Amino acid sequence: MADKKNKGLTAKERQHFREVILKKREETMEQLDEKRQAFMDNSPTGGSAQIDSNYAYHMADVGTDAQEREKAFMHYTREFKYLNYLNEALNRVDNDPEYGFCVECGSRIPNERLEEVPHTRHCVNCKSKIK
Ligand SMILES: [Zn+2]
Repeated sequence: MADKKNKGLTAKERQHFREVILKKREETMEQLDEKRQAFMDNSPTGGSAQIDSNYAYHMADVGTDAQEREKAFMHYTREFKYLNYLNEALNRVDNDPEYGFCVECGSRIPNERLEEVPHTRHCVNCKSKIK
């Protein structure tokens, strides 16, 4: 029954994009780890006495540190969302006959675009309209 609706990608293409997604997913998880460390390292949870005196001596830097940490945290959340999209795409590439098709206009999203953004649900045209 799935066959009838399966107008989309060939099994081979699905397999390919599955790998693309898995690879991006792995990279993203590595980056998440790095980013988490970036804003965890500065957090005053470990050895607070030392950090307190540090702050006292470098008052001017405190604002910058907080800003840096916030930036790292923002990157982290964005990356985290991306990871969720990838997980979702991984599920779709296996189960969704509509994977690789634009949800707006139904046209086939070119493989080159899927290669870049395998989690996308929109062709470039519709995407630019949304924006
Ligand atoms: Zn479209």
